Amino acid sequence: MTELSRLPTSGGCREEPILKQRGQREVFCGLTGIIWLHRKMQDAFFLVIGSRTCAHLLQSAAGVMIFAEPRFATAILEETDLAGLADAQEELDRVVDQLLARRREIKQLFLVGSCPSEVIKLDLARAAERMTERYAPSVRVLNYSGSGIETTFTQGEDACLASMVPVLPAMKDRQLLLVGALPDVVEEQAVGMLRDMGIRPIKVLPAPRAAADLGVGEGTVFALTQPFLGDTHAALERRGARHLPAPFPFGEEGTTAWLRAIANEFGVDDATFDRVTAAPRARARKAIAQASESLRGKSIFFFPDSQLEIPLARFLTRECGMTAIEVGAPFIHKGIVGPDLDMLAQGPTLSEGQDVDLQLDRCRAARPDLTVCGLGLANPLEAQGLATKWAIELVFTPVHFYEQAGDLAGLFSRPIRRADLLRLEAAE
Ligand code: SF4
Repeated sequence: MTELSRLPTSGGCREEPILKQRGQREVFCGLTGIIWLHRKMQDAFFLVIGSRTCAHLLQSAAGVMIFAEPRFATAILEETDLAGLADAQEELDRVVDQLLARRREIKQLFLVGSCPSEVIKLDLARAAERMTERYAPSVRVLNYSGSGIETTFTQGEDACLASMVPVLPAMKDRQLLLVGALPDVVEEQAVGMLRDMGIRPIKVLPAPRAAADLGVGEGTVFALTQPFLGDTHAALERRGARHLPAPFPFGEEGTTAWLRAIANEFGVDDATFDRVTAAPRARARKAIAQASESLRGKSIFFFPDSQLEIPLARFLTRECGMTAIEVGAPFIHKGIVGPDLDMLAQGPTLSEGQDVDLQLDRCRAARPDLTVCGLGLANPLEAQGLATKWAIELVFTPVHFYEQAGDLAGLFSRPIRRADLLRLEAAE
């Protein structure tokens, strides 16, 4: 069956009205991305210029790492340190000097901005330029903001990757660039399937090491593996690269459509495509069918959090038999999630941004079987008898491509099964 023949008969959600909300929001900040980014970039170090709150967030979110030789730290700037901004710059230089003298293996240093007003006043871009000159060519120093005022948790990765694009060497040759930080095993599966179709060269951003021969230019076509990479997408287009819009590789259908978009671009014939994908597709379908038994006929409500909401709603409604009541996303970038919107049947409210009290009212009134939200909202909703799924788990768990499709469905079915059990026990 072609992908097109399975499009919703209602015409999809791309042109549906979007409820735009601009009120209080409840999400983690962009510093959270450091937890998964430091695993991908093996010679990078993330120096957060922040407060004790930032240090606590990093240490509690990545507690294990503080016992190993960590690749992130917080330069805590107290108000008193910042009596004069010149002193603050000197203090930052001193911290960086010490760090780079002690850790010679660091090849990329990210200065990560945060919320305190003292930090916002520091010009980290200038500091990064100054330090790049000082440490060139052995260390590249970049900066981005992970501040909770400016970023939600997945935007930290976007800001980090976008900061790398302008300094990539120019490269005219044709290449496929996969963009987004995935667990290594998942990335290997994707690259392996594309290679088996005869596609090469294939590069990945972020590369595991700064010295990787990664360039960008007019011969580059890129496919995003994460839907939250809006700034990176814009930065790559500014360098002349061309985006391949596609549904995101969640579930059997999304993975097939994502691979198909790349295969079409590289002229892969149908027989080759089918030979490479037939077996993993069949495994994915079987795994999803098993894992989604308890999801069929159940309703779901997404609070805006990870920006994965629209592709996940597409997967859960089309492949797992769920009904979406509201699909909230922090931002809706149709150039990126348009193909997923095309496949999402009309019906759910699409909302962008947040006014958390109003959204909580809508959620309580709808009483969904499952609510996907941030940690801060999950406990109060659970206390009111609503089953929840923490959005952040979707970013920490391998969920992309065929082999993880069953696990992805399982992430949603577990809280529903638990809620069903609790209800049964209460009824006995
Ligand atoms: Fe630091 Fe701001 Fe994040 Fe709090 S919200 S941890 S102050 S960057």
